[in-house]
Amino acid sequence: SAVRESLIKKTKTVCTYCGVGCSFDVWTKGRKILKVEPQADAPVNGISTCVKGKFGWDFVNSPDRLLHPLIRRGDHFETVSWDEALNYVAAKLGEIRGEYGPNAIGYISSSKCTNEENYLMQKFARAVMNTNNIDNCSRYCQAPATFGLRRTMGYGGDTGSITDIAQADLVMIVGANPAESHPVLATRVRRAHKKHGQKLIVSDLRKNDMAERADLFIHPNPGTDLVWLSAVTKYIVDQGWHDETFLREKVNGLEAYLPTLESYTLENASQITGIPTEQLVQAAEMIRDANRLCILWAMGVTQHVGGSETSTAICNLLLVTGNVGRPGTGAYPLRGHNNVQGAGDFGCAPDVFPGYEAVANDDVRQRYERHWNVTLPTEKGLNNHQMVDAIHEGSLKAMYLMGEDMTLVDANSNYVQDAFQKLEFLVVQDVFFSKTAQYADVILPASPSLEKEGTFTNTERRMQRLYQVLDPLGESRPDWKILMGLANRLGANWSYQHPSDIMAEAAAAAGMFAGVRYDRLEGYQSLQWPVLEDGTDSPLLYQDGFPFEGGKARLLPTQFFEPVCWSDPEEFDLHLNNGRMLEHFHEGNLTYRVRGIAEKVPTTYVEISPELAANRGVTDGTLVRIISRYGAVRVRAVVTDRVSGKELYLPMNSPKHEEAVNYLTGNASDVNTSTPAYKEVSVRMEVLDDK
Ligand code: SF4
Repeated sequence: SAVRESLIKKTKTVCTYCGVGCSFDVWTKGRKILKVEPQADAPVNGISTCVKGKFGWDFVNSPDRLLHPLIRRGDHFETVSWDEALNYVAAKLGEIRGEYGPNAIGYISSSKCTNEENYLMQKFARAVMNTNNIDNCSRYCQAPATFGLRRTMGYGGDTGSITDIAQADLVMIVGANPAESHPVLATRVRRAHKKHGQKLIVSDLRKNDMAERADLFIHPNPGTDLVWLSAVTKYIVDQGWHDETFLREKVNGLEAYLPTLESYTLENASQITGIPTEQLVQAAEMIRDANRLCILWAMGVTQHVGGSETSTAICNLLLVTGNVGRPGTGAYPLRGHNNVQGAGDFGCAPDVFPGYEAVANDDVRQRYERHWNVTLPTEKGLNNHQMVDAIHEGSLKAMYLMGEDMTLVDANSNYVQDAFQKLEFLVVQDVFFSKTAQYADVILPASPSLEKEGTFTNTERRMQRLYQVLDPLGESRPDWKILMGLANRLGANWSYQHPSDIMAEAAAAAGMFAGVRYDRLEGYQSLQWPVLEDGTDSPLLYQDGFPFEGGKARLLPTQFFEPVCWSDPEEFDLHLNNGRMLEHFHEGNLTYRVRGIAEKVPTTYVEISPELAANRGVTDGTLVRIISRYGAVRVRAVVTDRVSGKELYLPMNSPKHEEAVNYLTGNASDVNTSTPAYKEVSVRMEVLDDK
């Protein structure tokens, strides 16, 4: 009836489950979520969503939600008022800063929070607490891709738009599993492949859904992508299939770069990577035959000791073949979380302000000093990895975590948990009581995305608004309000009335966002940065050159770093790979609290190849213990030919803390960005008797 309909509210939001950035209307009646309705004018997804976007929202009404601020009293937590909690946090942070200096505290921001909240978190660390010890979880996943892009092409983001990918003649997916991690984007690639004859190359350790469809599936040895990419690039140059005009007019560094390819002969590459030379030649020929090539990559590339070097090698290949600056070409690192891109863009990193401007640059820093009316620290800060080391060393005494379950998400969980036990003071600001919250002194209840306003930036640099679907549950608050309450208790004078005020301030400071205004983001409108003052945005980068000297990109030599998982085959004879599964998000805090999804996929598992299973007497459901140098987990086996030989695959999404993959991962990290080498884990397996 009309009365019943009038009680139904439809509110636009942006999905919080991956970097594709689908937007849709959420229908609610009271706190009940009736349905998710995608709209044709949603810029990325139109009328599509995946299972998480469609059904993954009941967690907002979960009885497990944190509803009140909590302070630790001995071995239990006591409910307190917001005033008491914030006064206490402000006093403790002030005390620790007074005693040990501002660099004794570390701040972690969140890719699940909005751009405005990320901006405020780095402003809080820098302008209020006077340290650059600020980071976010892109350190765990995409920092190497950003590094490779920025050093070769200029901007740390996808070069084009997701919709452009349909125009490619050839799509290469390297170390990514979009069918499960970026489902709506994968659907677009599948459609272009099927209907428009687009060709597809997939390189992965695991025969994932996209690999099943690929025209060429390449299965390299773990951690060797740089070698085969460089060999294919060399072969292309040797055959004269490179784009001479593009290189002459738009690229610097060819002379220094070419000699560094010398050792990457097909034979050498085949020996190191295990890829037959015919496949390398076939890949090169497919690239030759494509007028438009785009390369998609993710954590199968980045989470290695040489992740940033391999990301650079991908950019080099695109430049050598002239595949940048036209629709259907370019570099597409696939961001995992919904706002990984934005957390980095808005300055939650120890070395850059919003817009990736260096804290070490005097002009930039002075601009922010004027803007914020403070004196800022000149030294770059610690990244999240270094913060954990600094706790162990005794120089970092306190941490403030916004929306990050660091003791399960950072590599080597036992090492991180040991560190967190040593902290003098820990604040955890989150939606649920996470594993990390167990170590907290104060827990501040935050509101999830459906309960707040702001913007997210998806993997293609697209900024979109989310509107408030529901009121915050209990006493939970949007993160930006919590940060403002705290900053003002520490002497700041912040008076933001709405997230749009925060965005206006960020846009005035960072040229990249000059034209970003809320009225230009109304409803389903969006902007892809950089955005000029007049509102002109940038769906496709580098059409008129690159933001370097002479407008030219840079070809850069790369170095191959031998993966650490090759080091002890005697004791640890298997290789453990990890990643996402379609139904669940991240460490599982949200989606295992959605009944429909949790019923369908109630737990995690380890994938084992048929040959290994036969060899060890494992069948579906067998309980096994996986042991690495750093820890052990017990899970049940799934026997599948998605993995082969001595490869295991353990999804990162687990409902039980003790099954988290990071009890197995170690401390090795990318040489340039400190991103943990999550994908380089050697393990052994024991079959358990659980009768
Ligand atoms: Fe959400 Fe990603 Fe699924 Fe889109 S593809 S609905 S953004 S999880």
